[in-house]
Amino acid sequence: MTIIRGATTIESDTKENVSLAVFEMLKEIFSVNALKKEEVKGLLFSLTSDIHSFHPAKAAREAGYDFAPLFACVEPDIEGGLPLCIRLMTFCDFTEERRVRHVYQRGAKALRKDISEIFNVALDGPAGSGKSTVAKALAKDYNILYLDTGAMYRACALKAIRSGVDVQDEPAVNELLKTLDLNVEYKDGVQHTILDGEDVSTAIRENAVSMAASHVSAHPQVREKMVEMQRKIAAKMSCVLDGRDIGSVVLPFAKFKFFVTAKSEVRAKRRYDELLARGQQVDFDALHAEIVQRDKQDSERKFAPLKKADDAIEVDTSDMTIEEVLSFIKGKIQEKI
Ligand code: C5P
Repeated sequence: MTIIRGATTIESDTKENVSLAVFEMLKEIFSVNALKKEEVKGLLFSLTSDIHSFHPAKAAREAGYDFAPLFACVEPDIEGGLPLCIRLMTFCDFTEERRVRHVYQRGAKALRKDISEIFNVALDGPAGSGKSTVAKALAKDYNILYLDTGAMYRACALKAIRSGVDVQDEPAVNELLKTLDLNVEYKDGVQHTILDGEDVSTAIRENAVSMAASHVSAHPQVREKMVEMQRKIAAKMSCVLDGRDIGSVVLPFAKFKFFVTAKSEVRAKRRYDELLARGQQVDFDALHAEIVQRDKQDSERKFAPLKKADDAIEVDTSDMTIEEVLSFIKGKIQEKI
């Protein structure tokens, strides 16, 4: 069962206002989620105790939403609560896993700014710091997109490798960039990186591509192109972006910025376990040396180096579990909302 939430407010307690607010809320929930009648198993409204003029369930029935059970109840009177507010839980049953959008209208937008406004979370940090795991979990919790910017640089590197272009040869990479056909698509909320029409999401994870990506990403023209794509995506929808320069260059005005880091040995061990789980045999010491080398390259490059933005919150995950990191970051986001 999936629940889609909605909330709205009315200006004054009249039957017309209740009817209109309920109608508009339902209309948006159904349209933004492309809901079919048969997927909806019930609509549960709650209303603040200052509303007496009309029953929201009745308003829903009158608006044609009588194909599912409707119920409404009064919320307790809580001091400081939003007055004249109607909330809704839409119980849905989908055959496939689906990303849903909650709807907060009128005065209720203030209730959950995190899900009713476009907002971006910038997560920067070195390789293996845990930022992509955190980014994925955050995006899932907030029901927003996760944009893995590293995947884009990896795709550029893969193109260079496949074309036999030396990734350190800047003019040659710039030339290649002119023919780069790169797209980021989402299927069921999972990012797919499409290079020249081919889904390369798995191929770009090869260890050889990691170092190559670090080289191509040092070229200004490559960065310009990637940053432009990233900004376009972030302007259109709420997302968590992870990378090296999100808070400092891509989205310097992002409201939420974190710099996720960990000791290099810890990061190497995480990558080692990850590659092993994928069936790839690697030498730990070589992997560690590579991570240290990649950090150096990423931090010392002239253009948009890996660095903590002044206003980013640093999180050292060396001795933290993923749950601890998540709860820390979510706490900080909540404080700022
Ligand atoms: O995060 P991931 O390991 O997939 O990134 C691969 C490489 O892409 C990094 O080593 C880094 O050099 C580069 N990168 C970047 N800026 C980003 C994301 C990744 O320079 N925003």
